[in-house]
Amino acid sequence: MGEAGVGLEHDALHAAARGDDLRAAIGALRMRGDRVTAPRRAVLTVLAARADHLTADEVASLLGEGDVHRATVYRTLDLLAASGVVSRQHAPGGAARYHLATTAAGRRHLHGQCVDCGAVVVLPPEALRTASRMLRAMVGFTLALDQSTLVGRCAACAATPHH
Ligand SMILES: [Zn+2]
Ligand SMILES: [Zn+2]
Repeated sequence: MGEAGVGLEHDALHAAARGDDLRAAIGALRMRGDRVTAPRRAVLTVLAARADHLTADEVASLLGEGDVHRATVYRTLDLLAASGVVSRQHAPGGAARYHLATTAAGRRHLHGQCVDCGAVVVLPPEALRTASRMLRAMVGFTLALDQSTLVGRCAACAATPHH
């Protein structure tokens, strides 16, 4: 894996199977017994189409005025985040950002976000399996890795001397 293009890798991962991921997300909602309403389907469709971690306003803009009311978009994102189908990330001083957390089988991934350039880097979930198990055993805490974004520095930025 080269240092350049680590951000592109995440875009490519999501671009590869948008339909599958959307179906997996809708399937996960149904499995929980949540209804798949038109606004929920519309919001999930927007999130599945983009690898970016989007703010609620960006989701509303991408949906287009008139289709789904802005307040409904906010409520829907809240519900989807609470159900774990969508991840919500709070950046200090910024608006919360949303990303599809449910991906089709074999495409599960964790997100690392670079504090320098903002790139979202794909991280293999198995790298944290031991840490996960240890935390549960030691303090009874269960990590929600699908809903987490880890903060750090991408390979390219880590290799660049500080400006
Ligand atoms: Zn992703
Ligand atoms: Zn970076």
